[in-house]
Amino acid sequence: MIPIRQTGGRWWRLLVTALGVLCVSCATPPVPRSLPMPDAAPAVESPISIPAPVAASTPPKEIRIAAVGDIMLGGTATPELRKFGYDYPFEKTQDILKQGQIVFGNLEGPLTDAGEPATSKQYVFRSPPDKVAPALARAGFNVVSLANNHTLDYGPEGLVDTRAALDKAGIGYVGAGRNLAEARQPLYMVADGVTVAFLAYSLTFPQEFWAGSDRSGTAFGHERHVRADVAAARAQADIVMVSFHWGQEGKTELRDYQVELARVAIDSGASAVLGHHPHILQGVERYNHGVILYSLGNFAFGSFSNTATRSAIALLTFRDKRWRELKMIPLNVKNAEVVFQPRPLAGPEAAEVVGHLQQLSQSLGTTLENRDGVAVLVAE
Ligand SMILES: [Zn+2]
Repeated sequence: MIPIRQTGGRWWRLLVTALGVLCVSCATPPVPRSLPMPDAAPAVESPISIPAPVAASTPPKEIRIAAVGDIMLGGTATPELRKFGYDYPFEKTQDILKQGQIVFGNLEGPLTDAGEPATSKQYVFRSPPDKVAPALARAGFNVVSLANNHTLDYGPEGLVDTRAALDKAGIGYVGAGRNLAEARQPLYMVADGVTVAFLAYSLTFPQEFWAGSDRSGTAFGHERHVRADVAAARAQADIVMVSFHWGQEGKTELRDYQVELARVAIDSGASAVLGHHPHILQGVERYNHGVILYSLGNFAFGSFSNTATRSAIALLTFRDKRWRELKMIPLNVKNAEVVFQPRPLAGPEAAEVVGHLQQLSQSLGTTLENRDGVAVLVAE
């Protein structure tokens, strides 16, 4: 059920999932303060509202966000997807994804049948909008980042088609738009009365994919923009999530700017940073009140790779508007074995991924626990 209404020339979308989550999304740059609240408005706390008396037995509000890395349902996966259908990639993971009231991923490539391929690039991706967007929604995704180095693979037209397909499927998006102001706009979602803002930035080339004041593209992660955008979003939301497309492909070593920008985001009010682009896992850092996942690796991705073989689904729990716990559930994403269908790992294979994450995170001063093959980090 996706009721759409128009308010003052702007389209507002109200998305009600089977889990009872309310998602408010805006396709054009809004002023969040004027955001007309949906029917569930009484459950939303405004910064100036006086909290109603709460019975002592009322449990603290807890919400969970599931997050994965790169998603691209095209390329070399196309023959299998045509054969097995576009729900096939998510069959082994959707039960885990749906543990999140909010489910996030990085959509690496436009959903379009049109546009012209970018001539300057070695790899250009696209996938069919009428197949991929509904499949993502059925798998539980309700927000994706478009801030990456493939969003304009089929030009501004491809981005327009992508946004239209996501709108139609009721999936929110952040990090790309018809101009820089739009690309920098947060997406506000409401889950069980808790307002969560998402922002997304790309730190990856090609430079011509970065939006300008009058040019379509992705939001580049200028430090001053990140600082201002996160602080502004935090003033409107209980929780701010920031996604970055960054780092080196196939490398676990972090670039200095990743650490600096992630900490800027947390210091400016973000609760968590979700990174991607390296296609493999990078470390996790607990930093002040927040958590930084430097790279979530591949999720369902249409290419064969000998390096992108292991990944994870992150489950982040928030209580009383604060990040409380992270679980990283190991996945096999080696397409020569799983054929574009990420599969949860168990036993020694899961332990190996947890051990790898522990090692990467230890060098960032963060100790992850191994709880039955799941990497766990609890807030201090
Ligand atoms: Zn990328």
